[in-house]
Amino acid sequence: MVKQSPRKWVYLFTEGSASMRDLLGGKGAGVAEMTKAGLPVPPGFTITTEACNAYYEAGKQFPPGMWEQALAALRIVEQQTGKTFGDRHNPLLVSVRSGAKFSMPGMMDTVLNLGLNDETVQGLVEQTGDERFAYDAYRRFIQMFSKIVLDADPREFEQKLDEYKERTGASSDAELPASALKELVAEFKQIAERQSGQPFPTDVYEQLKRAIEAVFASWNNKRAIDYRNFNKIPHNLGTAVNVQSMVFGNMGNDSGTGVAFTRNPSTGEKELYGEYLLNAQGEDVVAGIRTPSKISRLKEELPQVYEQFQEIARRLERHYRDMQDMEFTVERGRLYMLQTRSGKRSARAAVKIAVDMVEEGLISEEEAIRRSDPTQIYQLLLPRFDEEAKARAHKEGRFLARGLNASPGAAAGKAVFDADRAEELGKAGVPVVLVRPETSPDDVHGMLVSKGILTARGGATSHAAVVARGLGLPCVAGCEGIRVYEEEKLFRVVGSDVVIREGDEISIDGDTGEVFAGVIPTVEPDFEKETELQKLLSWADRIRKLGVWANADYPRDAQRAVTFGAEGIGLCRTEHMFMEQERLPIVQKMILAKTPEERQAALDQLLPFQRSDFIGIFETMVNPRTGECYPVVIRLIDPPLHEFLPNYEELLVEVTRLEATGADPEALKEKKALLDAVAAMREMNPMLGLRGCRLGLLFPEITIMQTRAILEAALEVAQKTGKKPQVKIMIPLVGHVNELREVRRQLEAVAKEVTAEAGSAVEYKFGTMIELPRAALTADQIATVADFFSFGTNDLTQTTFGFSRDDAEGKFLMKYVDGLDAPGLPEKVKILPVNPFQTIDRDGVGQLVRMAAEKGRAANPQIELGICGEHGGDPSSIEFFHEVGLDYVSCSPFRVPVARLAAAQAALSKSEKDK
Ligand code: PEP
Ligand code: MG
Repeated sequence: MVKQSPRKWVYLFTEGSASMRDLLGGKGAGVAEMTKAGLPVPPGFTITTEACNAYYEAGKQFPPGMWEQALAALRIVEQQTGKTFGDRHNPLLVSVRSGAKFSMPGMMDTVLNLGLNDETVQGLVEQTGDERFAYDAYRRFIQMFSKIVLDADPREFEQKLDEYKERTGASSDAELPASALKELVAEFKQIAERQSGQPFPTDVYEQLKRAIEAVFASWNNKRAIDYRNFNKIPHNLGTAVNVQSMVFGNMGNDSGTGVAFTRNPSTGEKELYGEYLLNAQGEDVVAGIRTPSKISRLKEELPQVYEQFQEIARRLERHYRDMQDMEFTVERGRLYMLQTRSGKRSARAAVKIAVDMVEEGLISEEEAIRRSDPTQIYQLLLPRFDEEAKARAHKEGRFLARGLNASPGAAAGKAVFDADRAEELGKAGVPVVLVRPETSPDDVHGMLVSKGILTARGGATSHAAVVARGLGLPCVAGCEGIRVYEEEKLFRVVGSDVVIREGDEISIDGDTGEVFAGVIPTVEPDFEKETELQKLLSWADRIRKLGVWANADYPRDAQRAVTFGAEGIGLCRTEHMFMEQERLPIVQKMILAKTPEERQAALDQLLPFQRSDFIGIFETMVNPRTGECYPVVIRLIDPPLHEFLPNYEELLVEVTRLEATGADPEALKEKKALLDAVAAMREMNPMLGLRGCRLGLLFPEITIMQTRAILEAALEVAQKTGKKPQVKIMIPLVGHVNELREVRRQLEAVAKEVTAEAGSAVEYKFGTMIELPRAALTADQIATVADFFSFGTNDLTQTTFGFSRDDAEGKFLMKYVDGLDAPGLPEKVKILPVNPFQTIDRDGVGQLVRMAAEKGRAANPQIELGICGEHGGDPSSIEFFHEVGLDYVSCSPFRVPVARLAAAQAALSKSEKDK
């Protein structure tokens, strides 16, 4: 029998490369690549993500051979460093860190200084000649190991540390003398033993084994799961474990540790951006415990190191062709690189960096498009504080303090001081700003639902800042002008007696770092000034095949749509115009009319309103480059008529009240009549009732009025401007070709009349929504009567699944998506991967779209195909519509830039698949 060689679970840094991210995780692949490139990386090895998955599969057992391979790799690291693990004279110490494929900053665990016990600490004293340093490393190790591996409560360690500082008069950890640290080590061991119920492990191999297990376990801690759920990172990837020889940033003032980006992650400026702490170790910078110095200061403090670091940063960026986020440590004047990965960045920075890199010749336009995240673009178009209102807030003395502008955007809401409370209020729809002394990864669930984050401590690379940028949340970090008192749920403004308590409103400006009391109103950003975004989108326009139109009901929305680059209106919902205050009473008269004459009189009053609405839209929808009119799809009235009438229940209460009080018999009579009318129109299933084209068929006067208003508006604009509006009239909720045929007949008659009256013909196209399964199934028949189809994927999803658009999400649908408790199973069961009202259900609803598109084209090769449901602005759905071969998508004006980019990405990924 051939003996199968055991699977390879462990890779030395010298064996890996950047392409092995799936297996080695981002960190492991990054250090391996840097090692390969000859950069100064402390030697080490990576245990693979597959080992993590195998560990879980085997019921939390190391897979066969893994531990042996780790020991063999450790032997090589000993050779590379000239130190020996567990040696009492020259000990090798290691860090044990997590590292998943996708970066999850701060979500999983790390143990530093591993390999220390009462004997090896002596070796560390010998190696370094620094007793204070050695015992400081030892007490840090016990503290961290206890927290991470033994699951001990870290507060008791902190309290003890503070006690010793007070006793010795030390103002910081660095001032604690060796004698105090020695005592502290003994005390820490006792705390660990008491809390965990077992002696603190002195065997260095046991330490290593348990730390590796703890890192594996941290893949499934609550915060990591929350983070993955939010960022849609699959739960089955596992984390790698990196075991790396320690270098020390806490060996005096020629040592230090820092984090830096090759470009500014908030603005995208091309400058080294980051911070460091002298005489500090590993996590001190990211944990936000001390506020560090800006990286540019390193130029003065350690000039040679700064220069070398700058050069390495340049090399790494050129090598990866992307902005890098690097961790480094300086040990006694020697620079070591601990990590590099592509850096998380704000939406603004992402666009600027991509565009700059194209201009620097580092990447191609296609690459810039591929890398950009369409949903991130959306953030760029979000509101900012109104400058005037902000100036007023300054004048009124509402400015409280200024911190670091750690993540852009404006946020206002109630100040909340703990993540659980933030979650509670945020989920109830209350806008909250989470205020913390500094954030820890345990706060993530509260951050997810907050409008913004404010922290008193921590730098621009602290956990709060990194996570906020990733989530697109405004964040002001390191705001030293406030003192946060968590327990009392308040913050005080330093140097004043202003106190902000839980529930008080505050506003934070993530672009400037300012913090204000009260709410400052916001304004929309100026898209015209977003020159980099405009450039990126112009490249997208060259690449994409899908047209991008917008859903807009008013000239104001249409104007915004044109500004954002829409090439047409794909859906103008005319009923919204009926809802306006001065029109609603007339609409109600029309609905409640007892005779055709009464109805006609009301419609005659409505016609001029509608005409002027359409004139406004036609005039607005002009291509700014060519001066020609863009197409405008106007849909005839769609919702059930009772939506325009008062609510039945409220009316009933009113009538009962009037009856009981006996007051005003006239008013009572009128209300009763209204109640009877509303009662007569009530339906059990209004969404499946008298709505859509059915309305026009039952009350043709409405179709006639609307058609007339549209055509007259087009004629007037043509006369006034000399331009030719591209009119498209659309019929909703068609299920049978005969419905469409009849509406078309009526409509053509009106067109003839209008033409005769005006003495000139008006051109228009006639089409229908495909938003019922029967329409999709019989699209070939319907296509013989239509010039265009527009898929109404909202209704199509509703009617295909049988999910109510109005109720399903609130009642059960989100449980289908998030997972249901399943009796007998340890985990929740997900019925649906995503919310089908947001992302098209390709297998079901998508099939209908595909089939209808094919049938429609077969029957009428000239037919134009679009989509105007909410899915038109969703990147994944846009990819599908590209594949199906639709002509355009239509979405809300704000999503137009998102759709332009997503459509280009769809075209690029298809062309890749075709290769
Ligand atoms: C649709 O159903 O997808 C659609 C666009 O129409 P409405 O949302 O107005 O029903
Ligand atoms: Mg619809």
